[in-house]
Order: sequence, then C-alpha cells, then structure tokens
Amino acid sequence: MIQCAGCEREALYEVYKDIKQPHCLEHMLEAIDCSEFVYVRRLDELATKSQDRGEG
Ligand SMILES: [Zn+2]
Repeated sequence: MIQCAGCEREALYEVYKDIKQPHCLEHMLEAIDCSEFVYVRRLDELATKSQDRGEG
C-alpha cells in the first residue's frame, strides 16, 4: 500500500502541486483547500489498470 504523506493511513489519491505526493481522502481535501490549483489523480485507477503507459 501507499502511505499518505500527511498521516499513517493508506493514500487513495495522488496530489500534484510543486511536487507529487500521495494523500488519503482527508489530506487530499486539505491540500486542494489550501491551494489555487492542484491536480488530483485517484490511485485505485492505477491499481486496477496496471498498464505501463509512458512516464505520466
Ligand atoms: Zn492523510
């Protein structure tokens, strides 16, 4: 499992700001709340597809 960058729970989202960080739901919401622009990707989509498609 991927651990949240802000706590010890499982990360469900990847949040891209200056850098890419994994976050649980709560910390993902906190991250987008504190920022004008962020990009969020769900990690479970990555897990289910499991295809190698470039360097994203
Ligand atoms: Zn968290």
